[in-house]
Amino acid sequence: MFHSATIRLTIIYVAFLALISIFFSLAWYRVATTEVERGLGRQRALLDSAIRARGMIALDDVAETRTAQLRQSSNQTILARIATVNIVLLTVGGISAYFLAKRTLRPIATAHESQARFTADASHELRTPLTALRTEIEVALRSPRLDSSQTRKLLKSNLEEITKLSRLTDNLLRLSRGDTGQQLELKPTSLITIVSSATERCKKIAQTKHITITNAVSDELVHVDSEAIEEIIYILLDNAIKYSPDKSSVHISTDVTDKKVTLHIRDQGSGIRASDLPHIFERFYRADQSRSNLQTSGYGLGLAIAQQIASAHGTNILVTSTIGKGSDFYFTLRREPKK
Ligand code: ADP
Repeated sequence: MFHSATIRLTIIYVAFLALISIFFSLAWYRVATTEVERGLGRQRALLDSAIRARGMIALDDVAETRTAQLRQSSNQTILARIATVNIVLLTVGGISAYFLAKRTLRPIATAHESQARFTADASHELRTPLTALRTEIEVALRSPRLDSSQTRKLLKSNLEEITKLSRLTDNLLRLSRGDTGQQLELKPTSLITIVSSATERCKKIAQTKHITITNAVSDELVHVDSEAIEEIIYILLDNAIKYSPDKSSVHISTDVTDKKVTLHIRDQGSGIRASDLPHIFERFYRADQSRSNLQTSGYGLGLAIAQQIASAHGTNILVTSTIGKGSDFYFTLRREPKK
């Protein structure tokens, strides 16, 4: 698809070049032939005055024929030069135009590839819960005696799959829109308030794993969309809990400088391999969890969404991690001066 587009664009570039080249060739031909005419006229005048000075009789026909021959050969030389220049120009221009067209289309091709990959990955992820749902319903329908407790169990499991599906589609929609899902409403907000409400949302899952969340966030004002930043912290906390063993702890803290505040979320979890680190913010990327014995649910979209929100705030989520010891996810925000 992109090859034919490159060829089409090359043809357009070359046609444009040819048009310019024709224009300049015509001008060149006109100027050069006028020069030749002027030269021939001057030569003829010199010849006539020399003949007259010597009292000879001018042989008009001979002079005329000679002038015409000279004119023809000069014009041919001019045409040959113009043709050579045009051939070289169009050949070099054609090759350059091809590479230029390729270069022009490269970002579009990359965006197209990433969109295609996104669609393929999304379809794959959507198929898994849908297949589970269908299989469960089909098996239940084949059973001749389906009592009410079995039906209840089936519906409960179906509901779980549907909840997963709607979470997945929400995330997909959010990512495909290429924004944070909403217009950012930036206003000075207390960082502690944002962190507390994200922590509150994670309390239940932390309790089920007996994980303690310690909060040492300093009381800073930040100019952010509080809901969006809460979402980042929620995603990072949720991951910290998900990828940590029972009875460990997650520590939230801040580093404050003159104009900036960096929020750290540190866990004592499985850690992330150095080879996985460059990829964990990519959509659908899930690091190999077999090594950590922490088989967790997820679609590999959380960090991609968090990074998207962060970049809408002009910041970046960074991470340092040691296998078996834990990870430290952090991002920096601009501090608002306290009144
Ligand atoms: P998900 O958690 O749904 O798989 P994410 O995008 O949130 O998707 O994370 C991508 C991958 O990064 C995870 O699959 C996991 O391998 C790794 N990861 C993220 N956070 C942590 C963490 N705190 N500790 C260890 N691994 C993590």
